[in-house]
Amino acid sequence: MKILVINCGSSSLKYQLIDSVKEEALAKGLCERIGISGGSITHQPMGKDKVTTQADMPDHTAAVKIMLEKLTDASVGVIASLEEIGAVGHRVVHGGEKFAGSVLLTDEVIAAVEECNDLAPLHNPANLIGINSCKEIMPGVPMAGVFDTAFHQTMPEKAYLYGLPYEYYKTHKVRRYGFHGTSHDFVSERAAKMLGKDRKDLKIIVCHLGNGASICAVKNGESVDTSMGLTPLEGLIMGTRSGDIDPAIVTFIAQKENISAEEVINICNKKSGVFGLSGVSSDFRDIAAAADAGNRQAIMATEAYAYKTAKYIGAYAAAMNGVDVIVFTAGIGENNVQMRAMISEYLGYLGTSIHAERNKLRGEEVIISDDGAKVVMVVVPTNEELAIARQTAALVR
Ligand code: ADP
Repeated sequence: MKILVINCGSSSLKYQLIDSVKEEALAKGLCERIGISGGSITHQPMGKDKVTTQADMPDHTAAVKIMLEKLTDASVGVIASLEEIGAVGHRVVHGGEKFAGSVLLTDEVIAAVEECNDLAPLHNPANLIGINSCKEIMPGVPMAGVFDTAFHQTMPEKAYLYGLPYEYYKTHKVRRYGFHGTSHDFVSERAAKMLGKDRKDLKIIVCHLGNGASICAVKNGESVDTSMGLTPLEGLIMGTRSGDIDPAIVTFIAQKENISAEEVINICNKKSGVFGLSGVSSDFRDIAAAADAGNRQAIMATEAYAYKTAKYIGAYAAAMNGVDVIVFTAGIGENNVQMRAMISEYLGYLGTSIHAERNKLRGEEVIISDDGAKVVMVVVPTNEELAIARQTAALVR
């Protein structure tokens, strides 16, 4: 079956058409500047060059139409007609406590997703617009919702409750939800397979280190703790997000800078992390170049990132009373050889050590710890689109 995977943002739409039997992408692309002038679509049939076309898209429905035109186009298309699309899988950021797994998107379910908007006001409304646009243009094609939060619904109360008055959980559902669940699930399962083991017998710590970054403790196949919280702002130092800070800093800065608490949170989301610390960039390739040239802030940002990540690994080893496998994934986890080495320098006490030669490999599945190490370290490239396609195909079947 051919599954169309859609990840809708407020002004963008990412897509992949995946053959779910061969587990291969047929085409992928990105619509940008939806609802703003100067829009464009970049479409790539796999194995061929990508083509970028300028196209104003007043809304997401227009973007869905243009995407479908490209997929069925005589020269750059990969299918003869829309009838070949068996189902659509939508990435949905927040499923609250309602969704502990992927679901078929019926009208009832869509209404329940809408009720989670409060918890992810930047993401969920955009995801819903994508869902409703597809429903309008492709009525009758089954659609599934795959939630970033679902995998973490197995966390015990002691892990997801904050030390706040319990009534805030009861009345407003203030708790840890966690994100990147599709990725943590996918790579922890792959890591177990790579090692010829059953995930149910392992304690795994997954480090998803991309622009957004989170760590997850996966015990016997289930998420038992994760570093992102009510929103994706908590946890590690990220590209532009602060991660954990003393909550009192928010009002302190608001007073000192004469700005609102919302503005401080916006700074924590968009101008902090390694971008804020280094003053150079949110991208580690730029930070590494600056650090190599002796930029002190860039060096310090790199060190802070490694240190914070290693502290979380230690915390999750404690939470699970041990760890068998540490997995690195996403842009930095898959490619940043130096960062993996820096993090692993903190982990000797756990019984692991990095194999310098194997650690030079990038973007592929590889064991990077020394032979015989008590704790195995692996790199597993994430593939959230394939995971969404798999789950969608399973639901439709
Ligand atoms: P997102 O969360 O937006 O999907 P990514 O997973 O692409 O982000 O991660 C972005 C980070 O990964 C950047 O800091 C970048 O430096 C790093 N990165 C991505 N690809 C590479 C690469 N090929 N080589 C080195 N670093 C990379």
